[in-house]
Amino acid sequence: MPEKISALCSPKRFLMGAGPSMVDPRVYEGMAQPIVSHLDPFLFQVTEDIRKHLAVAFGTKNEFTLAISGTGTAGMETSITNFVSPGDKFLVFANGYFCDRICEIGRRQGANVVRFDKPWGEVASDEEARSAILRERPRVVAYVQAETSTGVFQEGKALCDAAHEVEALVISDVVTSLGCMPVEIDKTGIDIGFSCVQKGLACPPGLSPITLSPRALEILRARENDIRTFYFDLKLLDEYYKGGHRYHHTAPITMFYALREGLAVIAEEGIENRWERHRLGHRALVAGLEAMGLEMHVSDPAIRLPMLNTVRVPDGIDGTAVRARLRDEFSIEISGGFGDLASKIFRIGIMGVPAQRENILRLLEGLEVSLRAEGYATHASGTEAAEKVYASA
Ligand SMILES: *Cc1c(COP(=O)(O)O)cnc(C)c1O
Repeated sequence: MPEKISALCSPKRFLMGAGPSMVDPRVYEGMAQPIVSHLDPFLFQVTEDIRKHLAVAFGTKNEFTLAISGTGTAGMETSITNFVSPGDKFLVFANGYFCDRICEIGRRQGANVVRFDKPWGEVASDEEARSAILRERPRVVAYVQAETSTGVFQEGKALCDAAHEVEALVISDVVTSLGCMPVEIDKTGIDIGFSCVQKGLACPPGLSPITLSPRALEILRARENDIRTFYFDLKLLDEYYKGGHRYHHTAPITMFYALREGLAVIAEEGIENRWERHRLGHRALVAGLEAMGLEMHVSDPAIRLPMLNTVRVPDGIDGTAVRARLRDEFSIEISGGFGDLASKIFRIGIMGVPAQRENILRLLEGLEVSLRAEGYATHASGTEAAEKVYASA
């Protein structure tokens, strides 16, 4: 017989990395409420609230908007398996870790994956995107709007316009942007957008919001053959959530409560105020980092993500030790780099809850102490520079 175990007591970390981000207290309260069954009318009221409010964050009038059971990668897998058929030419704009994951899922799906590569930290220009699409004439195009591994924003309007000229569908990974900055599904022309809930929506990981344009929906509804995945089959999910509420799988009820509350918090703040809070937090953070003598990884300020800030680890400094000290002495988590950028950058997230003056100052203070302990001489005070930005706002 195993021994009795004591009550769970998790450490209180302040999450300012690449995700998950901090959970809003109202979300935790929602999650403590008793569950109903997956066929209870109450659950469908909750999913209807979610549908309406997700549409605001997505910037869409799409009728088809729901949340897939699973994390952001589940949304990615759903988007690709439902819209890319084996043998299809699938053009992926690749400039980071998550673009590579899209290519990998495409490869496993049997697609003819064609990559258009840019260095990590840069994006394809409008002209590059357009000429690649007109040259390749793919069935489906994918790009990552907010690349969490590098901190860059890929504007997608010209890319979507070119894709539609050759009648291709566009899949966009909006995992990190949703809830933190305008996603603009409709204005951009994105056909399939997917996201997660543990970054900008201040929930724990477990759901993946997805939205389909009228054209994507038409293609889905016209599909005659069954696709190989059952769990992520959007036609079946549509029948469960929308149509006759036919059992498909037992929806993770508690996660839906969480997402509803996360979206309620956003509605209360106002989505535009929330975007502005992230923009301001970003400006203050960058001012602080630069005052300390650090260099942002994304050189063009116009394509920096407000909620995910990548900053270079100074030469000769052990970034892992800096992050460990921040965690152990300040209880703040930030992330390191991935792949090509491993040990070269810090990734500082201000997604949702953390994008506030006091949190940004606390982070800058902790980072300053941790960098000094590793032998880095900071130039000027980061907190003072950040305070100035807040004071002049
Ligand atoms: C986090 C992330 C994902 C994957 O989401 P998971 O929730 O970890 O499955 C996909 N794309 C981007 C851009 C991300 O930041």
